Amino acid sequence: MPQAVIIEATGGPEVLRPAEHEPGAPGEGQVRLRQTAIGVNYIDVYHRTGLYPLPGLPAIIGMEGAGVVEAVGPGVSDLAPGDRVAYACPPTGAYASVRLAPAAQMVKLPEAINDEVAASIMLKGMTAQYLLHDTAPVRAGDFVLVHAAAGGVGLLLCQWAKHLGCTVIGTASTEEKAALARAHGCDHPIVTRGGDFAARVKEITGGAGCRVIYDGIGRDSFAGSMESLAMCGRLVSFGQASGPIEPIAPGLLSAKSASLSRPVLFHYTAKRPELLRIAGALFEVIASGAVKVEPPRRYALAEAAQAHADLEGRRTTGSLVLVP
Ligand code: NDP
Repeated sequence: MPQAVIIEATGGPEVLRPAEHEPGAPGEGQVRLRQTAIGVNYIDVYHRTGLYPLPGLPAIIGMEGAGVVEAVGPGVSDLAPGDRVAYACPPTGAYASVRLAPAAQMVKLPEAINDEVAASIMLKGMTAQYLLHDTAPVRAGDFVLVHAAAGGVGLLLCQWAKHLGCTVIGTASTEEKAALARAHGCDHPIVTRGGDFAARVKEITGGAGCRVIYDGIGRDSFAGSMESLAMCGRLVSFGQASGPIEPIAPGLLSAKSASLSRPVLFHYTAKRPELLRIAGALFEVIASGAVKVEPPRRYALAEAAQAHADLEGRRTTGSLVLVP
C-alpha cells in the first residue's frame, strides 16, 4: 500500500503522521506519479501551522517532488507511463509515495539532473529564477541583499545573483552558515540572528544601500531591510520564516521612493509556456556550472516531522528532501 504523511489538525511538527494512502486512478488532466524524492519547503511549515489555510483536513501537505509517471488520465497527451518528471505546484499532496498531480505542471527532467536534486531545486530554484529575472531584475554591478543566504532558496539566489554580476550581501545566523554562503557566491556574509544587519550593509555599500533586497525572513528583518535599501530600491518580501510582517502604510516607502513586492512562485508558473521557460532557465544555469546544487539533506518520508523540526529550528542549510 502506498505511504503518505497526513495531518489531521494544524500544529507543531508532531501533527505530521505516517499513514497508508491509496490515491486511486488519475482523473481528467492528471497523472499518477510514483515519487522517488519529495522537496521540503518553508511553505509546508506555513500549511502545517495553519498560517496558510488548507482547503480542508485531513490533508497531505507538500508542493514539490520528482518521480515516474505511472498512469495518465483522460486528456493527457504529452506524458506517458515511464516518463521521469518533477514539479513544484499546487495542490498540496507531495508528502506521499504515490500521488495524483496536474499533468500541465509536470516538467520532464534532463538526464543530468537526478531525482533527489530535482526535488530539491524545482520550487527553490524556479523561485530564484523568477525573483532575479522577473520580479526585480538585477543588473551587473548591483548590490543585492539575500536573507537566509545559506538556506534552500538562499544558496541558489546567491550563486545566481553573483553569476549575473551582482555584489551579493547575505545574512546567516552562524559562522558556519556564513562560510557556506561565501562558498556559494555571497561576497559579504553578515552573521546575525535578528534585524541588526543594516549598519553593516551601509558600511559595505559605502552608504548607498542595496538596489534589490530578497527577504524571506519577514517579521524580524523587515525594518532592517527597509533601512538597507538604496534610494529607489526594491524590497522583495517573498516569505516570512520568522512570522508575518505587520501591516504597513504605503507612505513608508516614500522616504526612499522604494518599491515593495510580495510575489508567489505559482503565479509566475501557472501558464505552461512560462513554467517551461522558468524551469528551462534553471536547468540551463545548473548545466553551465554557474549554479551548483549541494546534495540535499535526506530524510525518510516517515521522518517528515523531524525534517520540519530541523528546518524551523534553523538547523539546516541548503535543501531537504524526503525519500519514500
Ligand atoms: P530556508 O532553508 O531558507 O530556511 C529558512 C531560514 O530562514 C532558516 O534556515 C534561517 O536561516 C532563516 N530564519 C530567520 N529567522 C528565522 C526564524 N525565526 N525561524 C526560522 N528560520 C529563520 O527555507 P526555504 O529555502 O524553504 O525558504 C526560504 C524562504 O523563501 C521562506 O520564507 C519561504 O516561505 C520563501 N519562499 C517563497 C516563495 C515564493 O514564491 N514567494 C517560494 C519559495 C520559498 P538563518 O538561521 O541563517 O537565519
